[in-house]
Amino acid sequence: MLESVVRRPQRLLFALIAFMVVLFFTTYLSLSSWGSEQVRTHFETLKAAFNKNATQAAVHAQNEIASTISIGGQPSQAFMDGIKTIDDLRKYAVKGEDGNLYPPTFVPSEVNKLPRAKAGFIVLVRNNELEDMRKSMRDVEDRFNRKYGYPWIFLNNEPFTEEFKQGVKKMTRSEVRFGFIGPEMWGYPDWIDQTRAAESRKKMAEEGVIYGWSESYRHMCRFQSGFFWRHNLTMDLDYYWRVEPGIQLFCDLDYDPFVFMELNDKKYGFTISLHEYVKTIPTLWDRTKEFMKMHPDYLAKDHALHFMTDEPERLLEPGYNMCHFWSNFEIADLRFWRGQKYTEYFDYLDKAGGFFYERWGDAPVHSIAAVLFLNRSQIHHFNDIGYFHGPWTHCPLNRPKFHDNGKCLCNPEDSADYNDFMCMKEWWRTSIEGDPNQRS
Ligand code: GDP
Ligand code: MN
Repeated sequence: MLESVVRRPQRLLFALIAFMVVLFFTTYLSLSSWGSEQVRTHFETLKAAFNKNATQAAVHAQNEIASTISIGGQPSQAFMDGIKTIDDLRKYAVKGEDGNLYPPTFVPSEVNKLPRAKAGFIVLVRNNELEDMRKSMRDVEDRFNRKYGYPWIFLNNEPFTEEFKQGVKKMTRSEVRFGFIGPEMWGYPDWIDQTRAAESRKKMAEEGVIYGWSESYRHMCRFQSGFFWRHNLTMDLDYYWRVEPGIQLFCDLDYDPFVFMELNDKKYGFTISLHEYVKTIPTLWDRTKEFMKMHPDYLAKDHALHFMTDEPERLLEPGYNMCHFWSNFEIADLRFWRGQKYTEYFDYLDKAGGFFYERWGDAPVHSIAAVLFLNRSQIHHFNDIGYFHGPWTHCPLNRPKFHDNGKCLCNPEDSADYNDFMCMKEWWRTSIEGDPNQRS
């Protein structure tokens, strides 16, 4: 024996390698229950190839992660389809570290293999809003995102604290990004007279306008109008869902709203629309009229002006009824803001100084642009997304469709849809779909 090794030293090397391979393989099997399961599945599959009576299960093991897709309400292809009994399943159970058998794991966003849009959640938020932020995230994740896994993008004009970062990361399995907003996106442009800006804030506080008189609020509105869509961290996205801390979602969302937007060429989606306080935008409509005089061709062929005036055939002349989409919720196409029409419109408004000399909100600014530059069909009311942002609630009214089946948890009587401060009437008279509650 020894003699033969001495004569052929390569045999020793060979024996050593063989020993290492066996050692590695057995260690792997004993340490990794998942690994051993894979090996077993593999053997099952091999056996199946040679044995005509082999169980379907082996074949299905290869298709383990087939999605559950409902076509016309019928499940067409089911997760681990073909495994009919718990005994069938036993073969695919995995031994946990506690020695118990666990059924195969089910991570909805991984099982859901449908193509995704280039999209994410965009959140402007302060460090001290962590707890409210976590509540918003819980609803968004539970009602929708666990099944899709879209990323969260947090933006702040101050550095995020470690506590904030860890706190929100724990609420999702998706990618999380943290972005800083520099002074070029959150500060005074050089053409702004800061004394005049301060006077306007003072006046608004004295007049008892409830909010919007603070300096940071005005920077916030300007950022939400002109900058989030060209921030470094959002440049790879086509669509976004704007989320704020402290909101609530009331209904399961069983489809992908970003893909919905793409399928239908929608550019702007909202849940609540209402009237703006006149005192915050006394000259916004006049500036808009001037802009449209310079660019009459920017008006969309099938624009939605009827939402904002009673006589849309007279275009902007009749004046503004203050109706706008509430922008604390938005599902929209970033490319609409990045486009020439909106960037020129924003620049024109920014030069006019109304973000600081008055208190122009991003909600009326976004809304006016959508109404002028988009066709009616490109603006969508997400009636099926039950939503709360203080003090208003939108809750879908159709009980059989949304409530009797357990989809939503809200009281239709709390829904502000028909409240006079809302603008759903004005939207439904404008939109192609009309009032969903009048549909049979
Ligand atoms: P409201 O909805 O009009 O009452 O205004 P909010 O106070 O909710 O502000 C709108 C959004 O901007 C929320 O997501 C806030 O978290 C965020 N926000 C407001 N002010 C600031 C600020 O000074 N800094 C940062 N980073 N976020 C802000
Ligand atoms: Mn808010």
